Amino acid sequence: MIDLHSHTVESDGTYTPAELVEAACRIRLEALGITDHDIFAGFDQALPLARQRGLDLVCGIELSTRAPFGRGQKTVHMLGYFLNGGPSDGFRGWVGRLLASRRERNIRLIRSLNEHGVEISLGEVEAMGRSLTGRPHFARVLMNKGYVKSTEEAFRRYLAESAPSFVERDSPAIEDAIREVAAGGGVSVIAHPVRLGFRRPDEEERFIAGLMEKGLRGIEVWHSDHSAAATARYLALAEKLGMLKTGGTDFHGGNKPGLQLGTGRDGNMSIPRAVLDELREHAAVVR
Ligand code: AMP
Ligand code: FE
Ligand code: FE
Ligand code: ZN
Repeated sequence: MIDLHSHTVESDGTYTPAELVEAACRIRLEALGITDHDIFAGFDQALPLARQRGLDLVCGIELSTRAPFGRGQKTVHMLGYFLNGGPSDGFRGWVGRLLASRRERNIRLIRSLNEHGVEISLGEVEAMGRSLTGRPHFARVLMNKGYVKSTEEAFRRYLAESAPSFVERDSPAIEDAIREVAAGGGVSVIAHPVRLGFRRPDEEERFIAGLMEKGLRGIEVWHSDHSAAATARYLALAEKLGMLKTGGTDFHGGNKPGLQLGTGRDGNMSIPRAVLDELREHAAVVR
């Protein structure tokens, strides 16, 4: 069993890189992918520990990108996997600049929450994380201060795109992110496609095929939010389009309760090692 999608405290997970490596070894994962949002610090710290423990560690990243959608735009999560030798220095630099745009968003989000009657400061949310502050850290503070009872409520009332206090982030266009990942030595994969929210499979296929023309290489077929039917649909789609297949739980520790490393939600996942072998075999082929 492998898990190619997980988060550490360096982004919005609650496990330190060392704790995540330990947890992976405890459940005998054959490979672990660390895919923090916008940062490699978790992977970098985990790598020597994984080597000591004989754990096959895969370098990844999850990027929030903008894609054209109907008449507007939509935020689309994209995974980058660096299977041969890690990301280039150029790509690390590009990712560093994304972090700066996130900080700027956080300042505006604090201001917006203040305007909506919430007493919260940047220092309080930044204290919740390490290198990066994300909305789950805001959710924690809102809970600790008694504004909401759960993460879900924090997003629904204050942090989700539909909430009145929500603020946009200046995120890269998906085609730029795809190009940067490729130039940095990686392959790009559409994360948890079920969250794109398509009701019609033909429209979903057209959207993903359009991204493939821009250089997208794979689909996250297995994800803890995917039903058995959705997984089967994405597997068939990846094969039809000739795309790479990846999968993972999207483990965030206590920031996404009810989700286990490796096995997902109530044991709804078990990704065989062969998925990674195939990925490595085909990822090297430049297109
Ligand atoms: P950010 O990257 O700071 O904009 O925060 C995005 C992260 O917030 C996602 O990766 C999820 O971990 C989390 N998130 C987004 N929407 C929700 C939601 N409705 N409920 C819980 N967590 C969410
Ligand atoms: Fe997250
Ligand atoms: Fe995501
Ligand atoms: Zn994720």
